[in-house]
Amino acid sequence: ATPVAIMVGTGVGAGHGILIKSGEALQQARETDTVVMDKTGTITAGRLKCMQVDVCVEDMSAETLIQIAAALEKKSEHPLAEAVVEHAKSLNLSIPEIREFTAVFGRGVEGVLTEDIPPRRMIPEEAGVKAGKRYFVGNQAYLESIGIVLDKVALQKIAALADEGMTPLLAAEKGRFLGIIGVADEVKSSSREAIRRFKEMGIHVVMLTGDNRRTAEAVRKRLDIEEVVAEVLPQDKEKKIRQLREKGHKVAMIGDGINDAPALAAADVGMAIGAGTDVAMESADIILMKSDLRDAVTAVRLSRAVIRNIR
Ligand code: ADP
Ligand code: MG
Repeated sequence: ATPVAIMVGTGVGAGHGILIKSGEALQQARETDTVVMDKTGTITAGRLKCMQVDVCVEDMSAETLIQIAAALEKKSEHPLAEAVVEHAKSLNLSIPEIREFTAVFGRGVEGVLTEDIPPRRMIPEEAGVKAGKRYFVGNQAYLESIGIVLDKVALQKIAALADEGMTPLLAAEKGRFLGIIGVADEVKSSSREAIRRFKEMGIHVVMLTGDNRRTAEAVRKRLDIEEVVAEVLPQDKEKKIRQLREKGHKVAMIGDGINDAPALAAADVGMAIGAGTDVAMESADIILMKSDLRDAVTAVRLSRAVIRNIR
């Protein structure tokens, strides 16, 4: 493309809230044959909410479970963590302090309570919680890594939540599974349309997520996405992009999170969601200021138009 065509294209993009950082990015986008999208915060709105709490032991109330989970998640920056803390606040629950907080990237969090949670008078079975106990909140792989074995009932409950598109957050203490918190996010209606348009353009759409396989599959079905890669660890998102490129694909990656940044940089074209993290925006070539996936479609169309005009 000529410099003028690129300038015009970049200007048109900017008018739509599509910030194209370089002329090269605009040229690269036209050859895109595969679009890889992150799920949470990219396809979905990223406004996560706790929908249900399922305690799997006799001696603990749902409120106490939420207090424990919120105590750990208060120290995490994950969108799931925020949902748990917000839920505790909305129920007017106090959030205990913890020590020895550890976040395992793409898995979960743990820590030791430094305050008691007294038993609730309304629930006679409840034992309450003593300071000094260690707790864990995360996904199934995380709990398994600390030696928790989930029974059939728990596995069924997890599956049921996931089949509705919710992310199951699992809570445990050492040697004992405690319960499940179901966290839901809303699919943006603009995402559905963007995916349909990409497919009409002959572009293959892949959803790439660290989330539960079953949760991802529920979202895939709802949006008619062709391919899903789930339960990917943060470092493996980038690997997936490299693999696609090695097969000769021209790959655009769309993401919002810190864990998407290496994949955004590794793609032929990285597109960041404007409402996402700074790190994602720094690593991307194009920023979708309106956080609308239809603008990713526009970016590819614009790129094709600019190239056509100068021939
Ligand atoms: P993504 O943002 O694509 O869902 P992540 O790699 O950030 O992927 O997280 C993968 C999974 O790890 C989450 O779906 C969740 O089950 C678990 N996880 C990560 N961080 C936390 C956290 N702070 N609390 C609970 N679970 C977490
Ligand atoms: Mg995300």
